[in-house]
Formats: sequence, C-alpha cells, structure tokens
Amino acid sequence: MLKEFSPYLEYKDGILHFDGVNLLELVREFGTPLYVYSESHVRERAREYKKNFKDALLCFAVKSNYNLHLLRILGEEGFGADVVSGGELYLSLKAGIKGEKIVYAGVGKTEEEIKLAIGEGILMFNVESEEELYLLDELSKSLKKRSRVSIRVNPQIDPRTHPYIATGIRNSKFGIEYSRALEVYKKAKTLKNLEVVGIHCHIGSQILELSPFEEAFYKISKLCEELLNLGIELKYIDLGGGLGIKYRPEDEEISLEDYRRVVEKFFKGFPSRIVLEPGRSVVGNAGILITQVQFFKQKEGKNFLIVDAGMNDLLRPSLYSSYHHVVGLREGEEFVVGDLVGPICESGDFLAKGRKLPKVKRGDYLCILSAGAYGFSMSSNYNLRPRPAEVLLSKGNYKLIRRRETYQDFLKWF
Ligand SMILES: *Cc1c(COP(=O)(O)O)cnc(C)c1O
Repeated sequence: MLKEFSPYLEYKDGILHFDGVNLLELVREFGTPLYVYSESHVRERAREYKKNFKDALLCFAVKSNYNLHLLRILGEEGFGADVVSGGELYLSLKAGIKGEKIVYAGVGKTEEEIKLAIGEGILMFNVESEEELYLLDELSKSLKKRSRVSIRVNPQIDPRTHPYIATGIRNSKFGIEYSRALEVYKKAKTLKNLEVVGIHCHIGSQILELSPFEEAFYKISKLCEELLNLGIELKYIDLGGGLGIKYRPEDEEISLEDYRRVVEKFFKGFPSRIVLEPGRSVVGNAGILITQVQFFKQKEGKNFLIVDAGMNDLLRPSLYSSYHHVVGLREGEEFVVGDLVGPICESGDFLAKGRKLPKVKRGDYLCILSAGAYGFSMSSNYNLRPRPAEVLLSKGNYKLIRRRETYQDFLKWF
C-alpha cells in the first residue's frame, strides 16, 4: 500500500525507508519536525511528464514547493516555472531557470513585480484582469519593452474539489469571465506594447476525475477557434495544473497517459504549443513530514496524540480539512483511534481527526505522507516556532537542503 504513495517508500527491518534512506537515523541527525523529499521520485514524475508531453513547455508551479534545490532539479529536468510573485520569480531565476521558460500568473501583481518580470523577459504574463492589461502595457512602454501576454480565462466549471482550491468556478476571483474573453482579446490586440501570444486556464487543484478537465478544455478550445476566426493566432495554450494525487489509500490518480489523451483530443488541431503548470502532481508524494510524539492523553473518552508538528508546519488539514495519511516510522500492528494534534494554541490545529493511528508513545515518530506540495511552502512561524529543516534523499544518500530555523534567526527580522 505504501508503494502506491511512492515507489521509494518501504519498511526494511521494521523501519521506514524513503529513497533508500533509513528515516530513524535521519531524524536522530536532524531532529523533528522534518520535511524529507525523494529526489528519485521528483525526477521520475518530471520524466513521466516529459515523456507524455514531449513538445509542451512544462512549468513547475513554484508555489507548491519553492525549495531552491528542488527548483534546480526540475530546471535540470528541463522544466520552466509557473510563478505567482516576485519572490518566486527571483528564486526560480536563481535556481537557473531561464526567463524564457517562466510564466507569471496572479490576480494582484504589483508594479514592482511586473517591472522585475518585464526586465527578465519572461515568456508570458498570464493576465487576470483588464486593468492589469493596461498597467502592463504602460509599464512595458516605460521600460521600452514589448511584453508577451496570455489571458487567463475562467471557464466557469466546477472541478468538484475543495471550494478553496476551485479556481475556475463562476464566482472565483481568478481570470476573466468566459463570456467577455473575446472582447478583452480584441482590446489587448490594440495595445502597442503587448504581444498577445496565449490563453491560460487553471480550474483548480487536487482534481481526481477527467471530466472537469474535459469540460474546461472543450470551452477553451471553442474560444481558441473563435480567436482563430478573428485572425488571433495563439502561440501558447496554457492549461494550468490541477492533477490530484493520492492522499487517501483509496484515492485513484489520473494517469498522465489519460490526461494527455484529453489534452490531445481538444488541442491537437491548433498551431500552438501546450504549456502545463503541474505542482502537486510532481512533488506531492515525493515528500513526507516526520514528527515526534510528545504526549498521549485521554480526555472525556477521546484520544489525543500530541506531536511536535503543528498547523504552522503543515496547514492543509486546518485550512482545507485535508486528509493526510499517517504511518509509524516503526512498522506496527497496534492502532488507536483518535486525533493527531500539534502544539499550536488553536482548536483548529490538527493533522488528523478521528483516525486509526499507529499506537505510539512519547518519543516515537510518525510520518505524515503526501506532504511534498503545499507543505513547507505554506508553513509559518505562528506561535513563534522555528520552521523545520528540509532534507533531500537520493538512493541511500541524503543532503540538508534547508536548515532548521533557530531562535537567533528571529532577531534578524527586527
Ligand atoms: C496553483 C496553481 C498551479 C498548480 O496547481 P497544482 O494543483 O499544484 O498542479 C498551476 N497554475 C496556477 C495558475 C496555479 O494557481
């Protein structure tokens, strides 16, 4: 069952190993909470994407995991970057990803961020409003550059995922309404400092069925046809990210082969290059969070396992009521039903609720699976907790890729 999360996870002599590394030895060296990533898993997923989408530009969604070392690995694998802030743009460039492979989305880009991106000559701005279009035109003019744009169109479909990560539904803040898209394209064409090169859509995240993609791609392909009829030929069709991963043992992922067939079905006929922006489906199951059990307590008949990782380290359960599978670092047969909670002073601070958890005691370790995407990248210092270390594992070797924060780090902020 573990292998379905990652082929690099296995118990050896009763101890969990990831990418050939004994995790018990690892936590003894680096402490907890600890994020660990399998380089083999990341490269394998990147290569599966490349194999299925040979001619596409694959832009890794940096917001899912911004670790510089992971960005470098993905850059080596030929990936570009999908960024949503000046900070992500800066770090992607530092990781060696060229501006010509970077796309930039986001509803609230600031002048400063836009100028930075114009200066770096990024591949295209995924523009999310008319005002942004005008600002981009003006700033491009002042910098004497012509900027490439694609317009993010909201296909108004329901991806049947958590409402907080459904971005393509009618009332979401993202993109431009489907019904107004043609009008906005016509306006964009009149702006002298912009080159209209693409269309962009991203309908949401953690999608485990093909049908929402089919609905969205159908609508986007119709729009591309209408644009062609108007003489607006697009160089790029950017379909965003969104493929879901296994979080629960019963989840079934969409295979990249099936996804590719759907993309081909709708877009094969267009003279455009496909751009994809996968995040979660590349790194999600390449990472786990290891935490140490502090206390066990029973309160009014309910069991609580209190661990040293909290919502500041892994926000997804608190933010989206997400399920993360939890296994013991030591293989065990005994279980207890209860809540897995962190040390944060919030009732919403939990990692698992009402779950069958490994029966562990103070000092033992638990591994929270599927934590490679939107794990560390959403972490904070709430309750003034130093953020965890990150370690990269590769075929029995390991390397610290972000050191644990210390109390002294706090003083540097003030
Ligand atoms: C978040 C996001 C992605 C990545 O989504 P995943 O579900 O992680 O693949 C891609 N594109 C845009 C515009 C996004 O906001």
